[in-house]
Amino acid sequence: MNFEIVDIVSITEDIFEQLENKADKRGIHLKIRPKAIKECAVVADAQRIYQVLTNFIDNGIKYGKENGKVSVEFEEFEEHFLITVEDDGPGIPKDHLARIFERFYRVDKSRSRETGGTGLGLAIVKHILNAHKSSINVTSTPETGTRFSFTLSKGI
Ligand code: ATP
Ligand code: MG
Repeated sequence: MNFEIVDIVSITEDIFEQLENKADKRGIHLKIRPKAIKECAVVADAQRIYQVLTNFIDNGIKYGKENGKVSVEFEEFEEHFLITVEDDGPGIPKDHLARIFERFYRVDKSRSRETGGTGLGLAIVKHILNAHKSSINVTSTPETGTRFSFTLSKGI
């Protein structure tokens, strides 16, 4: 890991640009909240956090509902930021939720074949966030959507 001070808002903007076409194809709107936020400086490995956010946002685009939205929210606390990626898709059934961070685990195998990918994304995310001493929290409600959140510290 290569820790430095990075702005996670600008990383998110870069990822949105990168995934814009893919999101457009499903009519999914990508947004950052709060709207007025300019930057969030944290100590992190920029490339790895790019990978983490890319997987969460890409999952929202692939598994979210058509013409829905994927939003990334930043909340500031004294020593860290809380980052939440949320979609308004069909959600992840409760009995699968505990297993999605396992390597190659996918909820719907036939649907996953269409979307491409390997089912490794969240296993890698978990590994990277562990190295950042961050914990991941996931909540999902059927027909309402899925929220993944994690913290990144402002200092070492
Ligand atoms: P890859 O990340 O390698 O491209 P993937 O996206 O299918 O493949 P993961 O990111 O590890 O793999 O996600 C694991 C599984 O969890 C997915 O296949 C999907 O079934 C489920 N999942 C992940 N995110 C969401 C989401 N936002 N909504 C619904 N299901 C999800
Ligand atoms: Mg993925």
